[in-house]
Amino acid sequence: MGQDFYQTLGVERNATADDLKKAYRKLAIKYHPDKNPGDKAAEEKFKEVSLAYETLSDAEKRRQYDQFGHDAYTSSQRGGGAGPDFNAQDIFSQFFGGGGGGGFSFEDLFGGGSSRRRNPNGPLRGNDLRYDLEIDFEDAVYGTEKQLTIPKLTGCPDCSGTGCEPGTGKKTCPQCNGSGRINVSQQYFNFQQACPKCQGTGKVIEKPCHKCHGQGRIRQEKSFALRIQPGVDTGSQMRVAGKGEDGLRGGPPGDLYVVIHVRPNAVFQRAENDLRCEVPIPFEVAVSGGTVDVPSLTGKTKMRIPAGTQSGAVLRLKGKGVPSLRGGARGDLHVRVVVESPVELTSEQLELLNIFNASLTAKNLPRHKAFEERAKNFLREIKA
Ligand SMILES: [Zn+2]
Ligand SMILES: [Zn+2]
Repeated sequence: MGQDFYQTLGVERNATADDLKKAYRKLAIKYHPDKNPGDKAAEEKFKEVSLAYETLSDAEKRRQYDQFGHDAYTSSQRGGGAGPDFNAQDIFSQFFGGGGGGGFSFEDLFGGGSSRRRNPNGPLRGNDLRYDLEIDFEDAVYGTEKQLTIPKLTGCPDCSGTGCEPGTGKKTCPQCNGSGRINVSQQYFNFQQACPKCQGTGKVIEKPCHKCHGQGRIRQEKSFALRIQPGVDTGSQMRVAGKGEDGLRGGPPGDLYVVIHVRPNAVFQRAENDLRCEVPIPFEVAVSGGTVDVPSLTGKTKMRIPAGTQSGAVLRLKGKGVPSLRGGARGDLHVRVVVESPVELTSEQLELLNIFNASLTAKNLPRHKAFEERAKNFLREIKA
């Protein structure tokens, strides 16, 4: 049924998406029922161009349409052409980006679309802000309180946010005489749009506030104390409700998002709630066993070293890590011991060591013996 879709839109068969849009825009406005009240023929035309555009603007539908031809395609769709589920007005609304639902009109199409979507008189929520806060390792693990000073838009104290110089008020907009709308002519139509002078409010400020120049807000530094929970880490984000920018016209303030960055520490490295540190232990303690002092978040802690501890061994102190932000168990402290070889020995000390060395047997150095075996095997293989 009906006419070829390309002819309906008045475009070539190789028309681009852009060609289709331009053609549809022109015809849809021309035949729109709002512009042709009671005109049945125009209404029919409006439906035809909408259906043609709906089909050809969809790559898959267009492919099928081109393949099967107009008659075969339309009879296969919706029982032939514009069936009951086809709504030309929907396509029109989608195309021109009008809000969903019924109240779509030419006014939305051309006149101050944004002012309609956002009521110019209505309250406007303040922007959220982000603040990057660098803190010391100690503050992150123990928690602290920080004084933050943040430059932000806040309600003007002189005019209480009205934008009017104190003692003055608002007057009727001279451009629209208070209606908030002005008449504009474009192409075929006369239509109304939001008055640019008063942004559709119908009122303008008589004398702008000297401090905020009529904006109602000024940029200034605001300070407040922020409580930092023990256990925060780099990347932790805290939302502080209402500490973003102030709103406008009674709108609520935005929120502040504080992002934590923890400075590195000379003793501890952190991995989530666990801590790692490296502690040198005397040669003699590693051999005979004993205790050494280890730094921890709760102060100096004694750590037991078993006899025969090797350099690089990691010993765990349970519960000596960072408190959990989410109230779980504290992390652990992982201590990597490094056996310190004594240096600058006197000749007497070296002599004693020689006597001691002479007394060692393979049993005393099992790792050395095992390694010698592996090395020997390797050397034999590369010779062969
Ligand atoms: Zn002010
Ligand atoms: Zn106005």
